[in-house]
Amino acid sequence: MNRKERTAALLEAFRGIYPSAHCELVFANPLQLLIATVLSAQCTDKRVNLVSESLFAQYKTAEDFAKVGQEELEEAIRSTGFFRNKAKNIRALCAALVEHHGSQVPADMEALTALPGVGRKTANVVLGNAFGLNEGVVVDTHVIRLANRLGLTTETDPEKIEADLMDLVPREQWTNFSHWLIWHGRRRCTARNPDCAGCEVQKLCPSAFKVGQTKK
Ligand code: SF4
Repeated sequence: MNRKERTAALLEAFRGIYPSAHCELVFANPLQLLIATVLSAQCTDKRVNLVSESLFAQYKTAEDFAKVGQEELEEAIRSTGFFRNKAKNIRALCAALVEHHGSQVPADMEALTALPGVGRKTANVVLGNAFGLNEGVVVDTHVIRLANRLGLTTETDPEKIEADLMDLVPREQWTNFSHWLIWHGRRRCTARNPDCAGCEVQKLCPSAFKVGQTKK
């Protein structure tokens, strides 16, 4: 099987394994997802959801986040880690939303990635999950690891990995595909102890039993 055929087989398999895969961040609108995604850097979605529940009850609009003081916001998001930088970015990007986008999150890759602290990964999360637009593939730490282990890329740079995946996967599956890799990365193909023996796509994986297994 060549890479394209194997990708098609993986898509079919993952559709069956994770039929309800979805973004695990809790959000009610694009602004909440944008902020939750900023908070999720180097943090679990579970922790972000704990923090965001009270955060979103207190601050509801881009104006609210643009106006809140740096220290007050830092305190509210402290447990997500890197809170100084995250607070700075959230305040700056919400100020930019107020100033340039009528306080709304733009459904546009170029406009999103022009916001402070927003890269393609964050923009893809928002476009795919809040707007239902397949503009790219989310490449996070799980997708980097899985795409390499599954032999879908040999790149390490996220933008090059994304380009390889966009070439292999049909556009209408881009958002689902990143969910599937992320879910498989969390549940089966973990960084240190991939469960190759129990892995549903083991026969399609060139790395089966060859990577990351730590001795027990
Ligand atoms: S066979 Fe192993 S390395 Fe390959 S995807 Fe499954 S768990 Fe990951």
